[in-house]
Amino acid sequence: MLKILHFPDPFLLIPTVTVAQFDQGLVAYINEMIVTMDLCKALGLAANQCGDPRRVCVSRYRGYRNGLSCIWVNPRIVSRADKVSGPEGCLSFPGMDLTVERSATITVQYQDERGGPHQETLRARETFMAIILQHEIDHLDGRVFIDPSTAT
Ligand SMILES: [Zn+2]
Repeated sequence: MLKILHFPDPFLLIPTVTVAQFDQGLVAYINEMIVTMDLCKALGLAANQCGDPRRVCVSRYRGYRNGLSCIWVNPRIVSRADKVSGPEGCLSFPGMDLTVERSATITVQYQDERGGPHQETLRARETFMAIILQHEIDHLDGRVFIDPSTAT
């Protein structure tokens, strides 16, 4: 499995770079990320938590897409509405739980591992994936959950 960087590793605070090359290497790395996330019993994992600078994260949550692993390449939140607060953990902060304020509804644009474009709206009252994805996209922007973003 991939090694997880812990705060205050400075790499966690550097924004990731847009994925431009969709090839077998990307697919293989994403698969390693999913294995690592599952072995850690985590709900999500961002590439820069593993020392990779690419803008990609993975997630998995029961009930969302039947509990299948989700792949988000170049995800961007394009709109937000309302606020909600709840507890979160983070693999880069072992043993630490925080109450974090997030947007209650987000619309995200992203690509799949082959580069296909997608857009999706997630509501926190329907699925916790709305919160997981904000946590992971913050990682990709070089932010960690002690300093979350609620701005687009
Ligand atoms: Zn995290």
